[in-house]
Parts: sequence; structure tokens; C-alpha cells
Amino acid sequence: MTVRAPRRQGRILVAGGGIAGLCTAWALTRRGFAVTVIEQGDLPNPLGSSFDEHRIIRHAYGEMRGYARLIPQAFAAWDELWSDLGAVHLEPTPSIHLLSSGQESWIEAVAATQAEAGLALREIDPATARRSFPMLRVEAFARILEAQGSGILFASRIVEDLVRWLARHGAQLLSRTRVTAIDPVRGTVTADARDYEADLVVVAAGAWVGRLLPAYDRAAVPSRQAVIYLEPPATMAAAWAVAPVIISRGANGAYILPPRQGTRLKIGDHSFSLTGDPDAPRDVRTEDVARLHSAIAGNLRDAESYRITDCRACYYTVTADERFIVEPLAECGWIISACSGHGFKFGALMGRAVAQAIAGERSAESVPSWAGGGAPANRCAVITENVQGAAVPAAVPPAA
Ligand SMILES: Cc1cc2nc3c(=O)[nH]c(=O)nc-3n(C[C@H](O)[C@H](O)[C@H](O)COP(=O)(O)OP(=O)(O)OC[C@H]3O[C@@H](n4cnc5c(N)ncnc54)[C@H](O)[C@@H]3O)c2cc1C
Repeated sequence: MTVRAPRRQGRILVAGGGIAGLCTAWALTRRGFAVTVIEQGDLPNPLGSSFDEHRIIRHAYGEMRGYARLIPQAFAAWDELWSDLGAVHLEPTPSIHLLSSGQESWIEAVAATQAEAGLALREIDPATARRSFPMLRVEAFARILEAQGSGILFASRIVEDLVRWLARHGAQLLSRTRVTAIDPVRGTVTADARDYEADLVVVAAGAWVGRLLPAYDRAAVPSRQAVIYLEPPATMAAAWAVAPVIISRGANGAYILPPRQGTRLKIGDHSFSLTGDPDAPRDVRTEDVARLHSAIAGNLRDAESYRITDCRACYYTVTADERFIVEPLAECGWIISACSGHGFKFGALMGRAVAQAIAGERSAESVPSWAGGGAPANRCAVITENVQGAAVPAAVPPAA
């Protein structure tokens, strides 16, 4: 089946106004398409995955080498966006990797991709690490590496600016409008009991995707993830003010974003819950908090002197192999599903790629494996069990 390439002024409907939908809308609008973004919540939606103070972008991706190789293109796509927005919402920093023993294959893979990208990867000896990072439990780790080519993306500022840019450039923005059905064969969408017709529809529904497209239910499984915001003690404020992005691997593995440009210190982990309903109240569960408390204690010196200022639960989808699903749907549709906690950094790149394919600037057929980091096509493998071994339930379709 070949996806249709509409004429330049064609009408495109985008279901979902997170980073994937907004960037697709941006890249389509700047190519002359008439774009309508339909979003069930506010625009931007504070309950979407894309709405948070910050997100990490990094080259050091370990064994997922295909993704590391896409990062230079991702930075270039962000640059294109900054130039349209008239603001740079990225602060480059190195990333520090706190590694417990047994991470040799990860280090080897990172060394290869850093070298390929011409970026430094250096070992930091314990004495230097203690001096440079007095807030970290340096002694708890076997090795500490510093990788160049990372940074902090100020996520909520980016989506807020994208919404403003789209409004200024004539895109139609429908907030608080829930899409209940998609027909990618005819290019139609039903939302709030009204039918919308277009040349093409793009589904960018984040953790809700399985409700709109049952074929992707349990291939892209919603996963409730928690993060904690912290206020460091005054004695550590200076060290945090210049801290890089920090990622620890092994027991108590976590990612830590330093406070920058008015954002707060944040800690989260990459262990997928594969549980939860994105429409359920966003309570942070005891088990999420317990895991993050261990991460704080395992990574930070004097952990008890930090004040917890906020705790949040949010959702992303997880695929069996942690790769993106970006592919045509029948003749008149696309799905863009930013997966497994890696999605924000690739938002501008993936949105632009879908727009390029729709505009006929690149072949639609080449996009799925490119977006999967060169992975073979097992993107739609079904996930049946969550981490506790409980069955992953089928998604409930939205009420018509
Ligand atoms: C705690 C946490 C930490 C993360 N850290 C990083 C990181 O450091 N680096 C990184 O790159 N990525 C990270 N991610 C992942 C990244 O944030 C997500 O992959 C990305 O934001 C997903 O964007 P999206 O547009 O696909 O989904 P969303 O932002 O969720 O957008 C989807 C939108 O579709 C709307 N929608 C859904 N269904 C309908 C419907 N039926 N009708 C109308 N609208 C609908 C939703 O309301 C939502 O606004 C993290 C995610 C979380 C939760």
C-alpha cells in the first residue's frame, strides 16, 4: 500500500498536540500545508509527556547505536526550529555517567559512537570527580565517564512556543477536542461527534495511541513514570549550578537534571512500569516514590539534606525494543509514536521527517526503519506482561 503524497496546499489533520504532533504541524506548516491540530486537553497539554521543565538530549546511547547516529540530525532539526521560534530552548552540557561494574559493553558502544561523532569521552578519576561533583556519591561507582554532545531541552517552553508559532502562521488549533475515530483510508477524523476531512491524518496521540489505533495497542504500551523535584541544600547550590546532566547505570540507576535557567533539580529513573491509564488521576504511587528515594540515596551525598518540592507521575509508551514507531497508515495516514522515554529529543527530527515524506521530499517507505535507528521491523511486537508479570490490559477506545 502506498501512502498518498498530497499537493502542497493540502489539508492535514494532526491528532495530538505533544512534541510529536506540534513538530509535525510546524514542519508541515512551513512547507505550505493547511494544518489542523486536534488536542483533547489544553494546548499544550500539561498531562502530555511533552510538558515538563526539561528533557535530556545526549549522544551517549550505549548499544542503541542507531539512535546515537541520529543525534547530530536531531540537533540540526532543533536548530531549524530555534531559528523559526527566534529562541534557543537548549542548554548544551556534557553528560556524566556514573557506572557500576559490569558496564563494559555499554562503554564500548558509547566509545564507538562518540568517536564516530568526533565527540570526546573521558574517564574521570575518583579524586577529580570528588572535587568536581561534591554532591555525588562518587565512591559508590566503579567508573565515571564524561561524554560531550549532550544538553538540556526546556520542554514546556518549546511546546508553548510551538503553539504560539503555529497560531501565528495560520495553523488551526483545536484544544479540548477529543478525537474518537480515525479513518486513514479516507483521511477523516471524528472528534466531538463532528467529522473532519483532510488529504491526510497524522496520529501523534502519545500514551493514548492504542485507543485510537487498536493495531498498536500493546505494541506501544502506556507506562506510568514518576519524577521527583528537589531543592538542594545551600552548601551544594554552587556545585549544582554548574553541574552537567547526570546518568547513573546499575543498582539505583537514575537520570538527574541539574537546575538551569529557572528550572528545578529533577531525578527520575528509566525503569518502565508498563502499568497505568493515562486518563486516571496522576497520583504518585508509594512504590514509585520508594524507588526514587533509593535512587536519591544511592546517587547523592547527604541525600537527607535535600527538600522534595514536588513529585509527578506522567506517561510515555514503551515498545518491546524501545524504538520509535513512525510509519504510514493505509493511503492517507501516518502514525508517529515517540517511544520509551527517548521521544522528546527526537521530536523536531521525527516531525520534520514525516512532513518531508508527506511533501514528497523523501521516500515514505524509508522512514520506518530510519526512525527505528536502522532496526529490523519488529517494532510492533506485542508486550503482554508488565514488570510485575501482570497481564497488560487492552486499551479502552475513546467514547464516541
Ligand atoms: C518522566 C519522563 C521523563 C522523560 N525524559 C526524557 C528525556 O530525558 N529525553 C527525551 O528525549 N525524552 C524523555 N521522555 C519522553 C518524552 O517526553 C516523550 O517521548 C515525548 O514527550 C512524547 O511526545 P508525544 O507527542 O508522542 O506525546 P505527548 O506529549 O503525550 O502528546 C500526545 C498528545 O496527544 C493528545 N491526545 C491523545 N489522544 C487524543 C485524542 N483522542 N484526541 C485528541 N488528542 C489526543 C494528548 O492529550 C497529548 O497531549 C520522558 C518522558 C517522561 C514521562
